[in-house]
Amino acid sequence: MQADGASIYVAGNPELYPMEYYDPESGTYQGAIPDFLRAFARDCGYELRYLQPGPADRRAELAERQQVDLISGCADGSRYAHTDGEPVILFVSGAEGEETAVQLWFTQVSPGRFQADLRGYAARISQEEWIGSILRSAGDVPPRQLPMGLLWGGGLLLLALAAAVAVCLYRLRRARRRRIQAVQADPETGLGTEEVLRQAFHSLGRNPGRSALCLICFRLDLDRAGYLWGREQAHALLLHGARVLREAAGQADVLIRTGRDDLIVLKRFPNRQDAEEWTRSAVEKLRGFTANGATLRRRDASAGICPLGPEYHELGQALFHARQCALAAGLEESDFRLCGTAQCGSCQERWRLLSDFSGSLQQGDFLLYIQFFVDAHSFRIVGGEALSRWRHPRLGFLSPNRYIPLLEGDGRIRELDCCGLEQACGFLEALCRHPVQDFFLSCNFSRSTFAAPGFVERCTRIMDRYAFPRKLLILEVTETPHLDPEGARQMLRNIVALREYGVRVIFDDFGMGFSSFHDLQDYPMDGLKLDKELVDNMQTERGRILLNALVETGHRLGLTILAEGVEEDYQIETLQRLHCDVLQGFRFCVPLPAAEAGRRILEQAQPGACSDSQEG
Ligand code: C2E
Ligand code: CA
Ligand code: CA
Repeated sequence: MQADGASIYVAGNPELYPMEYYDPESGTYQGAIPDFLRAFARDCGYELRYLQPGPADRRAELAERQQVDLISGCADGSRYAHTDGEPVILFVSGAEGEETAVQLWFTQVSPGRFQADLRGYAARISQEEWIGSILRSAGDVPPRQLPMGLLWGGGLLLLALAAAVAVCLYRLRRARRRRIQAVQADPETGLGTEEVLRQAFHSLGRNPGRSALCLICFRLDLDRAGYLWGREQAHALLLHGARVLREAAGQADVLIRTGRDDLIVLKRFPNRQDAEEWTRSAVEKLRGFTANGATLRRRDASAGICPLGPEYHELGQALFHARQCALAAGLEESDFRLCGTAQCGSCQERWRLLSDFSGSLQQGDFLLYIQFFVDAHSFRIVGGEALSRWRHPRLGFLSPNRYIPLLEGDGRIRELDCCGLEQACGFLEALCRHPVQDFFLSCNFSRSTFAAPGFVERCTRIMDRYAFPRKLLILEVTETPHLDPEGARQMLRNIVALREYGVRVIFDDFGMGFSSFHDLQDYPMDGLKLDKELVDNMQTERGRILLNALVETGHRLGLTILAEGVEEDYQIETLQRLHCDVLQGFRFCVPLPAAEAGRRILEQAQPGACSDSQEG
């Protein structure tokens, strides 16, 4: 009879190579015992879950806390506390006159039926089959090449095997230690990496006491520090953060760095109030940093507290919530935000959106919309901007503000940007089959996508598949506050290579970010798109002076100047007076579904050609 997928939690022996060992590269247990347990789970209908090991063997601790059903990879006689009944003996080695048995122990929480099933299953496996499996795991000698007589030679073989195992074990431990050091320590701060946190989180298993733990994300605005005070001071701020938290955290807490500027603490608190007090005091200390006499603003250091209730099945989900709360706390200039309170109600929704993203992308639920650009004097449609809309299966049509910031924070914006590029190329190719040869289309890229190595290759692979004059495609890149020197160099290389390929590159939202004039100096571009806020500010004298300066500077550098967010007639008149080249805004057109936009473009090219058009 099948057990219908009941979960079985196993604490393995990370060092019993080749019977059972933890492979940090794949993040799984390997060896003869895990192979056996996997076969058992498959045949008898269980779901097998090995808990991740910590830096050392945690079987005794996991047995004592009753977090697992099975303690695996035990040598003879090693009885753990809180185990139940007799062990299952898997394999007995008679080498050197001493009998050694490799065993499995059940804990007191393991279901009776599972115990009976496993005992029955193990009894059907012969010692010879075990030897074959161990040799396969050791990988030294493929079993089919062994003379059968040797297999039956029992003791002698086991002796040889024991020696081989000892050598392998030593080598494996040494290699493993090196690998662990590489994945477990952040080179800049010496704190743990996300891998350490992942192991700690998984080893908590289904322990109900988990809710007493909080995952706390501390955010430091290293971008701003780098921009204002330089790279060294940003690094000093990071080290200050690591020092403060190291001093505040206890021996049993997990402290790691993840992403660029998140420091995470996993800590047990007797109650919520203590968690809040501890976090508030840590944030205050973080804000004590000074650089060249300057201090941090309140919003430059903040925290998000995520109590690890049973609703958090995945570490990624808890981390996401803690990060979102830390970000929100920074924006509202408070010390911290607590996940799960009314204040952070939308966290859950945002996490669900992120989880739905890949599926939707594959299903083609990101649709191409186009908002036209018009000539500033004739108001003729000259081009358009490709904008995405998410046709979400549950929530209906979503505008980019709902998902772009999420995807940027998560690093998956690249996938959407590539999808947008593909759709834009397809649109241009289709248009070129008609007598429309001069409509240009711009496509949005976040700067993290644009500044990444391999970006040019990714883009050209997509563009090569479509036939259209390259100069009709424009890549819009938005400002982001700070790129490290290598990022800036990569960005420059990418811009140069893409312009050589024949497409044009412009800055989006120009004039409002951190580094506008720097950017003009550093990067060879084709145009600037003035940010909507600049266009909104032109009612004031100051606003007009600033705008004038930007347009004039841009023109003297040979750039095309576009203005976005044009809603009013007075804005059109001022922009015409300032010799702005191209306008975009609701005054002319809202973003349209690609098919509708295509119809209108054809209609302009051949008046009367699209009589089914809805244009009013
Ligand atoms: P953006 O690139 O600055 O695009 C212009 C946004 O301003 C669009 O919003 C557009 O509908 C809106 N807009 C245009 N004219 C007016 C106006 O007169 N008044 C007002 N109030 N708004 C106007 P949308 O379509 O919601 O897009 C928001 C942002 O999302 C865009 O800002 C763009 O940066 C980003 N986005 C959209 N699709 C993608 C994508 O596929 N990849 C990336 N990286 N970003 C995208
Ligand atoms: Ca844009
Ligand atoms: Ca813009």
